[in-house]
This record gives sequence, structure tokens and C-alpha cells, in this order.
Amino acid sequence: MIPFLDLTRQHRALHAELLAALGRVVDSAHFVLGPEGRALEAELAAACGVRHGVGVGSGTDALRLALAAVGVRPGDEVVTPAFSFVASASTIVMAGARPVFVDVDPDTCALDPAAFADAITPRTRAVVVVHLYGHPAPIDAVVAVARAHGVAVVEDAAQAIGATWAGRPVGSWGDAACISFYPTKNLGACGDAGMLVTDRDEVAEHVRRLRHHGDGGRYRHVELGYCSRLDELQAAVLRVKLLHLGRWTDTRRAIAARYRAGLAGLPLGLPVERAEARHVYHLFTVRHPQRDALAAALADLGVGTAVHYPLPVPGQPMFGADERRWPQAARAAREVLSLPCYPEMTEVEIAGVIEAVRAAVARLAPPAVPRPGAEVT
Ligand SMILES: *Cc1c(COP(=O)(O)O)cnc(C)c1O
Repeated sequence: MIPFLDLTRQHRALHAELLAALGRVVDSAHFVLGPEGRALEAELAAACGVRHGVGVGSGTDALRLALAAVGVRPGDEVVTPAFSFVASASTIVMAGARPVFVDVDPDTCALDPAAFADAITPRTRAVVVVHLYGHPAPIDAVVAVARAHGVAVVEDAAQAIGATWAGRPVGSWGDAACISFYPTKNLGACGDAGMLVTDRDEVAEHVRRLRHHGDGGRYRHVELGYCSRLDELQAAVLRVKLLHLGRWTDTRRAIAARYRAGLAGLPLGLPVERAEARHVYHLFTVRHPQRDALAAALADLGVGTAVHYPLPVPGQPMFGADERRWPQAARAAREVLSLPCYPEMTEVEIAGVIEAVRAAVARLAPPAVPRPGAEVT
């Protein structure tokens, strides 16, 4: 069996370091908004090439508070891609605004800048741009459209820590960005945690206030806030793991390169990596029109897979829109399949995944028409 993901391997390797870090926090008895969190904020801001990091309870909260801090108010519209994890849109609703879904690039599933431009109205206040699977969206083009229309840019970099576009880190392009430390992310906590990164002083200051009950200091609450602070235990864990993140990312990229070489020539869509992009392969997601049959065949051969995501966001029951309005997103939801891709995979497992995918694809009928992004012999 080759599991889709096995986090116990990472924790076995770091066991002593993690327990020492946790012990330091337990002994200090400083659990919320303390030195570990402040140090992690500085380290993450530096890694993203911005001046501020603000630790919060989750990636979702980072998005929610970023939207408030860039000025999204009830009645506003916020543009967001029709294909992502649900939080890229649900947080817009939490902010009281209306998500305006636009279709995605068929190759990368990223927000299409032209579709974004078409969706702008006088009520558009912000855009949430998602660096899905760890591949940066064309953020320079998105920022250019946004600036031309006075629209704020919030980057959902939950899956993309360490990725760059045109040599510049994701998280440094927009007005604010969200990072998630959900345990399965490339930099994962032992629980929920997240961070907002921004170069804008007033956005950072506003989110620091919002995460702590709108406190302007000394129990003077100047606005309605939330309770969403970064836990010191999580910050200590994350600081240990951050020391290994560069090496882990290199290994993810090496696994992706092995998969590309081993799966070339099959009637299977491989992930596209744009020339400007440094992809961090949070997920290595292939495409096939008979996705469910492919997943079943791989399960038979002992390879775990996962579907990110089975529905376009506006087609989720909570939104209930007719997904045919976003044909590329709807098609992606039918075709995508994520293969195991994590730094602790063994050589034998990587080779085993390649062999199993080749065997599984051969069992399926070939697609009638080549698809964008597919490599077809
Ligand atoms: C994980 C994720 C989030 C939310 O992060 P949490 O830490 O789970 O709240 C938001 N957007 C995307 C694209 C994600 O993958």
C-alpha cells in the first residue's frame, strides 16, 4: 500500500525536536500571543518578502480578516475563482459580501485574468486569487487588472508557501495574503493555525486588532472583532518545521519531476508549470476524463489518491448554482485526481506510483479528443 499521505513519517523524524519545542512553551506557560508567535510572524514575513505577519487561528480566519482589513463591507462584490477549496468563497460570505465566481484557466485551474476583468462592476471591492495546488496564479496580470479598477487583491496562498511567480514569492503581490498551517499543508501545524502576510502597515495593524476582539489596547474595544489568535504551541511546532521547509519543497519538486518523466506520453493530463512559476507541489494533480475509474484502478493496485475538488465552488450545495455557467471549473471537478506527493515518500513508492498509473491508464479507454494540458501520444 502506498498511502496518499502519511504525516506520521514526518513526525517520527522530528519527534525529539518537536517535543523539545512544545516543552519550552509548556514550561513558559505563555500560550497565546507570545514570543514563539512573534518570532514565527517575523520568519514567515521574511520568507514571503513582506514586512508583516499576523498569526491567526486558521487560514480561513486569515482570509476572512484580510477581506475586512482591505475594506470589504456588506453589499460589496468580491471576485473569486469557481474552482478552489470552499474557504476561498465562504469567507467572502462571512464578510457580508457577495462572491462573484469566474471560470478558471483550463491548464492550471487558476483565476483567468480576462474573466476577472469582465466580472468587475462598480460594486467590486476585492478579488481573492488562489495559488491552487501550490502553482501560482498569473498574479502580475491579476494585480494589473485590479489596480486599473481600484480593486483590492487578497492572495489565497494556503497551498503555496514558498512558491514564486517571476521570481517573487506568492504572498508579496497583493494587498494581503493568507497562509494555512492546516496539518496536511506543506508547512503544517499539529492542529489549526494560519497567518496573514502583508506589506501594508494599516492592514497588519487592523488584523492584529480584529484577531483580538477589536481591542485598541487596555480593554478598549474599538470595533467588533473576533477571537482568532495563533497558539504558542502551534507556533513552536511551526518554527521547528520551517527549518526543514526548503528541503521538503525541493523534494516535492523532485518527486514531481520523476512523475513527469515516468508518466510522459500517457493519455493523461499532467500538471502544467508555467515558465514564470515555481510550483511547490502541495498536490500533484493529474487529469483524466474517467477519473473515478482511474482512482478505483489505482486503489486496486494499492495506491491512495484524493479528489481536490469534486465540485466547483458555486456548485457546492451551500451555493447551489448551476455549475454549467463555469464550464472549465465543472470539467476540472470531473477530471482531477491527486497522486501521493510528500517529501517522506521512498524511492520504491515513487516508482510504484508511476508503474501503477501506467498500468491503470492502460486499462481505461483512451479519451476521444485531446484535452488542453494533456500529453497525448
Ligand atoms: C486549506 C485552505 C484554506 C483554509 O485554510 P484552513 O487553515 O484550513 O482554515 C483556504 N484556501 C485554500 C485554497 C486552502 O487549501
